[in-house]
Amino acid sequence: MSKIKHNPAKEIQNLQFFGEFGGVNPSISDSATYTFLKAKTMLDTFEGNADGCYLYSRHTSPSNHYLSMALAKMENTESANVAGSGMGAITPVILQLAHAGDHIVSSRTIYGGTYAFLKNWVPKFNIETSFVDITDLEKVEAAIQPNTTMIYAETLSNPLLELADVEGLSKIAKKHGVKLVIDNTFTPLIFTPANLGADIVIHSLTKFINGTNDTVGGVICGSHEFITDLKSVNDGSSMLLGPVMDSLRSAQVLKNLRTLPIRMIQHSKNAQYLAEHLSKDGVKIKYPSLKSHPQHELYTKMMHPEFGYGGMITLDLKTGKMATEFMERLQDKNVGYLAVSLGFYKTLFNAPGKGTSSEVPEAEQAAMGLSDGLIRMSIGLDFDITDTYRKMKETLNEIGYFETYLQHN
Ligand code: PLP
Repeated sequence: MSKIKHNPAKEIQNLQFFGEFGGVNPSISDSATYTFLKAKTMLDTFEGNADGCYLYSRHTSPSNHYLSMALAKMENTESANVAGSGMGAITPVILQLAHAGDHIVSSRTIYGGTYAFLKNWVPKFNIETSFVDITDLEKVEAAIQPNTTMIYAETLSNPLLELADVEGLSKIAKKHGVKLVIDNTFTPLIFTPANLGADIVIHSLTKFINGTNDTVGGVICGSHEFITDLKSVNDGSSMLLGPVMDSLRSAQVLKNLRTLPIRMIQHSKNAQYLAEHLSKDGVKIKYPSLKSHPQHELYTKMMHPEFGYGGMITLDLKTGKMATEFMERLQDKNVGYLAVSLGFYKTLFNAPGKGTSSEVPEAEQAAMGLSDGLIRMSIGLDFDITDTYRKMKETLNEIGYFETYLQHN
């Protein structure tokens, strides 16, 4: 859809960072504070005017700077700033853009923690949020008020896999002079929201980008001006709230980022295989490559096609009881783990209604189509996906899914 020539995987391929002693990986900065040869340079750094100098690791460390630069390249933004977790990226962005008396328009299907922050936490500072169906651009525009400062959405939403039309949202945001903030956690490389008009792009690095589920992490990608503002020693939300990432961790995430392109291709290939076969079997499944996905065409237009339709699928097993039985049996058969989170080399599954989206009240869950039986699956890097499919089908048979819901099968 976008005319911009930018391939996020090539940007990763072209990164060239050397270590202090000629190492093939950048050296890890093992310091919380940094010396200056001249006091004047320290002052300039305080004021954000001394590029290449480091002040204090809550502000930036060399290791965090390398990872931030790499992610800015991937997301095609001028700059970026990594954080200690996805929420450590999301909350400073919201607090930097919205002040007391302001209003936010947010997608109603977003990660439960973000939802809870907008619904329960920011009202303490007199910031109100209208939650809307993000797939309905008319409703989004109608929700904008004179005091709205941002539109917030996930490219592909957690857990319902609804797609935000980033280009359409960007037109609305620009028309009303508000910022468009996009959480791209579910679809790194597949979408480049900045190319479609997003002002700020966020990731929980905890998921696909790191891929090994051994740390939490986050990043904010945006203009040089916005990232400098976030790090301002006087009023920068990242600097003052302090959700900083540790250098050892950022060095590790940077190494894992190098394999993200091949991992995303494999996650997508496996998820597509399962989605196609299980949907043919009659299982109620949602996956963006399927024509039954309400935004299949938009997704296809927006995506970088080489990375596929992503690693996330949802299955609706109708009741919480059936979903629980299915997941426990899958874990027993070592198909994956009953666990929250996603983007891991093993398949992970959970029922978000009572888990990662439990912050969303039941009535609202029902309104957005989040049933107790909905299972969110993050499909792993399985070498033999045919065996995984066989086990899933066998388990659905064992728990009586086909018997109960598809008399013919
Ligand atoms: N954004 C999305 C889409 C998520 O799924 C999550 C966590 O599940 C987050 C943000 C929060 O990230 P973290 O857990 O790294 O703080």
